[in-house]
Amino acid sequence: MRYAVFGNPIAHSKSPQIHAAFAAQFGLAQFRYDKLLAPLDGFAATVRDFIAAGGAGCNVTVPFKEEAFRLAATLSARAEAAGAVNTLLVQADGSLLGDNTDGAGLVADLLRHGELAGRRLLLLGAGGAARGVLLPLSAQTPAAMVLANRTAAKATALAAEFAPRLSVPLTGTGLDGIAGRFDVVINATSASLGGTALPLPADVFAPGALAYDMMYGKDETPFLAQARAAGVATRVDGLGMLVGQAAEAFALWTGHRPQVAPVLAQLRAAL
Ligand code: NDP
Repeated sequence: MRYAVFGNPIAHSKSPQIHAAFAAQFGLAQFRYDKLLAPLDGFAATVRDFIAAGGAGCNVTVPFKEEAFRLAATLSARAEAAGAVNTLLVQADGSLLGDNTDGAGLVADLLRHGELAGRRLLLLGAGGAARGVLLPLSAQTPAAMVLANRTAAKATALAAEFAPRLSVPLTGTGLDGIAGRFDVVINATSASLGGTALPLPADVFAPGALAYDMMYGKDETPFLAQARAAGVATRVDGLGMLVGQAAEAFALWTGHRPQVAPVLAQLRAAL
């Protein structure tokens, strides 16, 4: 039961702690999970070496998710839609199955804080993270979804690409085109990384709204500070998404569905 996460850089990854805690829940003493640095020009070869040495599956993080997508022989529907793979599984015939568990991790974490069905949802950002969560979010049947991005053209293009596949209305706009109030506002931009708040309309949050930032850290993110200033009571960072996507990968590999809450609490305490 040898697994790993590949990225570059990778030193910061919390995935080994998370998977070790999951394995402990089921007494899987033989489960092993390492964080491994893949060279920027040698991801595929590094994964192949790992499998040849007995690796049964792996997680993939920045900047290799698109390359992992191309490496997989078969893809789950959600990986196909995301255009990116964060989880690889070696199948019985030795070929690679690619999955993307980021969206499922986000949805599971959002549902811990309230329903999505029938609610108006605003997704900020049009990069890889936004692309990966559109399909799983729409499966929760929100009333409507709006995708807003600093570069408006990227949001409209992504919305046009996904809208025909979704049963929920989806529109794309620039940040300055956001109109109306939203029950769930998800920040999938990397603006918080740069310490920047987003230029959002003051009344973007509906009463009782949930503000979710995919970014996480010890300190409150700029987006969640912005939501607090707007009077939003339920504000959640992306640590639960991280543990949630790991739980989905663990279940795919081992057939065991781990409990997320205790591992999330453990990780939060260690931030
Ligand atoms: P990308 O680089 O693919 O996309 C970045 C997005 O952020 C683009 O839409 C970009 O807009 C926007 N953006 C960047 N800076 C600003 C700014 N100053 N103001 C407004 N918009 C800005 O990144 P990802 O999609 O891969 O990741 C986005 C975030 O999600 C990161 O913070 C990442 O850490 C987090 N994440 C968290 C996960 C978790 O498990 N918690 C999992 C995956 C991602 P534009 O198109 O105009 O450039």
